[in-house]
Amino acid sequence: MSTIHDYLNRLRIIDGHEHLATPQIRQRENHDFFRLMHYLDSDMITAGMERGALSGRGISDEEKATVFLKYWERTSNTTYARMLRTAMKDLYGFDDWTVQGILDVNEKVKAATHDPDWYEKVLSDKSGIDLAFTLIQTTNLGYERFRPILFLDFTFKLRTWKDIREVLNNAGMNAHSLSGYLDAVDALLHRYKREGMVATKLGHAYWRSLACSKPTFQEAEAVFNRLMGCTLEDGLSQLETVPLQDYLIHFIIQRSIAYELPIQIHTGHHETSVSSNGNILPHSNVALLLPLLAEYEEADFVLLHCGFPYHSQYLSIVKNYPNVYADFTWIYVISPTAGKQILHQMIEMVPQTKIQGFGGDYNHIEGTYAHLKLTRNLVADVLTEKVQEGALTEKEALTFADRIFRDNLIDLYKLDPKDFPKR
Ligand SMILES: [Zn+2]
Repeated sequence: MSTIHDYLNRLRIIDGHEHLATPQIRQRENHDFFRLMHYLDSDMITAGMERGALSGRGISDEEKATVFLKYWERTSNTTYARMLRTAMKDLYGFDDWTVQGILDVNEKVKAATHDPDWYEKVLSDKSGIDLAFTLIQTTNLGYERFRPILFLDFTFKLRTWKDIREVLNNAGMNAHSLSGYLDAVDALLHRYKREGMVATKLGHAYWRSLACSKPTFQEAEAVFNRLMGCTLEDGLSQLETVPLQDYLIHFIIQRSIAYELPIQIHTGHHETSVSSNGNILPHSNVALLLPLLAEYEEADFVLLHCGFPYHSQYLSIVKNYPNVYADFTWIYVISPTAGKQILHQMIEMVPQTKIQGFGGDYNHIEGTYAHLKLTRNLVADVLTEKVQEGALTEKEALTFADRIFRDNLIDLYKLDPKDFPKR
């Protein structure tokens, strides 16, 4: 094994983006083998499986195992499938892809769910993760290696008076005007920050375009007032509410700047398990963000997923904008080949202080483990190639790894370096 591979395998990681449930939630919901599908579920649906077929309550585990195996046969070539295979083999010693095999390992997964040390074993001992940011709608995480990032879409995806009321309830405030509503959103952000939130997250590429106009307060207020005039359930169309949404997106960026919170934004590929039949892919093209990136020079924009499949434009943008950071969350399991190619180009184009190297983006720690194992190898391969080409010295390659997997996250998310000594 090369020095670089050996170094990468031992490096302790700060993981910039996950969707992991807290250990308490996992226990309460009694997660089993069929809760470990996540991304693979999307491939199975693409391969013809009915949506929700493995999560239905009305069917037995044996029936689920049968359905699973039917679609496993169709999808076992993809990286999502490979990740499940790696996790099950390494963490459960499982390699028996039969109905009986799955029923047996299902009991082991449930036992792990109720093992109080399982998170620590998988994330710290097996994966080498010091800290992970997880996107979950609570700041009460109950696990010391987690820090929260909250989706703020619910504060601007307003289609009914009920949506507004939910935000106000959340903030513990009342309001009868747009300015009152803005105060409530601001109070929420302030509270989340106080409770440990390290960044804000905008996931709107999943349900509308990233393009954002600059409405005036009066234009936004007119929509807000129309919503307030609706009955609880009746609402306005997506198109009618765009001026209000756009105004609120600007507001959230402005308040994120005020609270010194980086802003993570989804760009590129849509996961069908999230989007169902999906938003329109070109709506997630990173180039649509340019007016916002140009306007808010003082913001820290973290653009997720390398913008794939718009990664060429993404590379140009990250190269040119001092306030924009690259983030490799999710990309290696979408396509390791694409991840490798993008990393090669990133090293050639983008200053190393602007690159965040890993976010598992999984909703279970087994997936995070497998994704990180793949990532360590892949990044070591790319760095070895760069050294062979003469583009980097070996020492520079190791420094680059330190940067993208640790130091950059400590800097950007303002973690205390004393809490994360290099081991
Ligand atoms: Zn994510």
